[in-house]
Amino acid sequence: MSQVADTALTLLERLKTGETTAEEVASRLLARAETLRALNVFVHLDGDRVLEQARAIDARRKAGQPVGPLAGVPVAIKDLLCVEGEPTTCGSKMLAGFRPPYDATVISRLKAAGAVLFGKCNMDEFAMGSSTENSAYGPTLNPWDQERVPGGSSGGSAAAVAADLSPLSLGSDTGGSIRQPAAVCGVVGLKPTYGRVSRYGLIAFASSLDQIGPFAHDLRDTALLLGVISGKDPKDATSVDAPVPDYLATLDQPPARLRVGVVREFSGEGLDPEVGAAIEEAVRVYQRAGATIVDISLPHTRYGVPAYYLVAPAECSSNLARYDGTTYGHRATDFSPKYPGEENLPPLLRMMMASRSEGFGAEVKRRIMLGTFALSAGYADQYYNKALQVRRRIREDFDAAFEKVDVLIGPTSPTPAFKLGERTANPLAMYLSDIYTITANLAGIPGLSIPCGLTKAGLPIGLQLLAPAFAEQSLLQIARVFENATDWHTRRPSLS
Ligand code: GLN
Repeated sequence: MSQVADTALTLLERLKTGETTAEEVASRLLARAETLRALNVFVHLDGDRVLEQARAIDARRKAGQPVGPLAGVPVAIKDLLCVEGEPTTCGSKMLAGFRPPYDATVISRLKAAGAVLFGKCNMDEFAMGSSTENSAYGPTLNPWDQERVPGGSSGGSAAAVAADLSPLSLGSDTGGSIRQPAAVCGVVGLKPTYGRVSRYGLIAFASSLDQIGPFAHDLRDTALLLGVISGKDPKDATSVDAPVPDYLATLDQPPARLRVGVVREFSGEGLDPEVGAAIEEAVRVYQRAGATIVDISLPHTRYGVPAYYLVAPAECSSNLARYDGTTYGHRATDFSPKYPGEENLPPLLRMMMASRSEGFGAEVKRRIMLGTFALSAGYADQYYNKALQVRRRIREDFDAAFEKVDVLIGPTSPTPAFKLGERTANPLAMYLSDIYTITANLAGIPGLSIPCGLTKAGLPIGLQLLAPAFAEQSLLQIARVFENATDWHTRRPSLS
């Protein structure tokens, strides 16, 4: 079944030799998407638009015109990236029917590279969640076990690659939303350094943490897609003007140094024993490859989740204030007074309140309330400002660690994919899915998850690798040492 989509690079090879066409590839994947509809990977997939793009690329190639590095390759897009004229919902009822008037920078770059945009992927509403169950459009199912979640919030993007519905996809990661779904869906997922990829056209959740990144089957494809989307963008003041190396061409160069730090705090309570065993095996793989293994402590790790759940909600409460029913998004039609005292409020205010009550789901409302409280006068010092101090300590932990090692490794997710509904009633249990991923966002450093095992029940396990800011090149090279020594990245779920 891995023959259906292959990797992007094998596909590119076959497109170049004329063995297949972009249209053929696209139609085959559209048919497969139809067969695998029950997975609920896409919230929007317009077959005609997909085929139209594919035919345009085929025509260019046939005419001998220059084509980009992704010419004819399907890329599925998380539904929080603006694509001109295409529905973009962010997994929310609030944005039902919204069609952005412009492309996100990453989308313009994909178009320029000749990629075929292959649908909009399901996600937790406004990227808040770890299971894709917070989507207003129903959960995505994990292709490895359809009773389980695909992780989140980029669950649709991870499942799209895992189920061979698209060789590549884009997601976003604010506290783990690329790496955790990649881990539990058995694919590669990379959160680049904050500032590596432009966020222009990414619908904001927490602007100081959000970053866009690739999903793929392996590191060669990951390197290829990262190269296409990286770089300075005048439309995003936080994007950084640092050189973009040729990640793909340099992937197979041996890493300059191979000092691997094993994070002490990324084990212990809450860590599934089978995940723990797979990580220990990964350490042995590096040992056999000649790496120096160093025991590393990141003492402030345990404050990561509490700090994140102040910083992220604080930023979201501000970012989501724009959804008030006045300019775009959901607008309530009935805003007659329903609660005592409401009749004294001006109708405009009642319209805003009703629109927000109807448009947002429970988790989004919880975050807005948390954030508004944490920022309110009299509490900001105790909560928000305290969280910023903790954030600084977490960054200092990483700075100290990277004096001694080139990469830090540990589990991506403390457990394999959990059952649908298992954590929905308990927000804290859900939040703890991200204990190992959240600190990288707070520090702004890049993080990668690669497949490193399967449980006895056949569920994928992910190995997380963290590197200093803008060290994506060596991060990928060091991960490649593991990928070359193992075959976990070639495993696929058995789907009809
Ligand atoms: N699961 C985390 C949250 O719910 C992280 C989400 C993300 O990275 N977008 O906020």
